[in-house]
Amino acid sequence: MTERFTGSFTQQESIPEAGIEAAVAVMRHGRLHRYNTAPGEVAETALLEQEFAALVGAQYCLAVASGGYAMATALRAVGVGPGDKVLSNAFTLAPVPGAIAAVGGVPVFVGVTESLTIDLDDLEAKLGEARVLLLSHMRGHICDMDRLMAMCDAADVVVIEDCAHTMGGAWNGVPSGRHGTFGCYSCQTYKHVNSGEGGFIVTDDPHLAAKAVMLSGSYMLFERHLASPPKEAFDDLKYTTPNISGRMDNLRAAILRPQVADLATQCARWNARYHALENGLRDTPGLTVIERPAEESIVGSSIQFLLLDWAASAVREVIARCAARGVELKWFGAPEPVAFTSRYDSWRYAPSKPMAASDRILAGIVDMRVPLTFSLEDCALIARIIRDEVSRIHNRMSA
Ligand SMILES: *Cc1c(COP(=O)(O)O)cnc(C)c1O
Repeated sequence: MTERFTGSFTQQESIPEAGIEAAVAVMRHGRLHRYNTAPGEVAETALLEQEFAALVGAQYCLAVASGGYAMATALRAVGVGPGDKVLSNAFTLAPVPGAIAAVGGVPVFVGVTESLTIDLDDLEAKLGEARVLLLSHMRGHICDMDRLMAMCDAADVVVIEDCAHTMGGAWNGVPSGRHGTFGCYSCQTYKHVNSGEGGFIVTDDPHLAAKAVMLSGSYMLFERHLASPPKEAFDDLKYTTPNISGRMDNLRAAILRPQVADLATQCARWNARYHALENGLRDTPGLTVIERPAEESIVGSSIQFLLLDWAASAVREVIARCAARGVELKWFGAPEPVAFTSRYDSWRYAPSKPMAASDRILAGIVDMRVPLTFSLEDCALIARIIRDEVSRIHNRMSA
């Protein structure tokens, strides 16, 4: 009998009851804007920022409208302006070069390794070209952050981390987002906490934190924050920083607070699913599992594998045959972007020199979402289906 999977790859879990109750309370009192507070009241948004800052051990946290807004604000705060080059990953998603473009910056793409992390040798060669690196921990893969930070510190390159896929993850015990000057996170439905849209910016630098708060549209109400620097930090900024509104609201914050409190538990559940998939895929002929270094604490909310040096037609056949059995895989090697699978050569507003070594890897990357609505048995079944189809086509090719 041919096994089939019937679950949905885009169905997340419902919002925790505590979040629903808190959201209803916000709707009942009607004070959704973060600065709309009754006397003595502390806004849900301010509490959320305080709780997220404590979770990742940051001095300051600002909640904003999206992950993309978080990155653009961090870039603006460190002074990236029109025409400035910004280093970033060739393997990432469209909002990352989009954030650079939003401030008028020009992305300089850095290659990807077979571990799906930024190529640190390529980065080293390009460090002289820009003073900022927007580092994307794409699909949760964290590079050797100790080496990266040593290199960037020595070259005076400011690091901004895109942690859309690493909220809850760590390198060598340091939470992802806490190595660079800024850490940026997304609270969009497909990330690790879900408020539909939303994001966080964290930093330990009081001047940059104050700048981000002003940029986000705090008017002169920054004293209502709990994870913001003291008001003196705003003295020389409040007349010179433009308001580029991108605040979070109390409704989203109410939904997020119980999820932030529960993040570690959710990450453990993701990792159990990830390891069930990884174990099921290991030693499949023709398929390369991405080995994760011991220093990396992962959050397995998606899984990738490589069909390295496969003909495009054979990869397409695997994708189609798995899809026919209910398993939705995404291929980053497709010449035309499909859904979220775009790559550096599809962002034609930011032309790049071709990178042959990275092109070879991008051409082999297959990606799958792992929603928490999957059971461990679902994951084992999905792995059997992929294994079956990959082996079938691989055996035929090598026959
Ligand atoms: C989703 C995502 C973002 C930004 O998220 P939004 O909240 O949708 O703006 C940034 N980087 C990566 C890699 C992402 O996947």
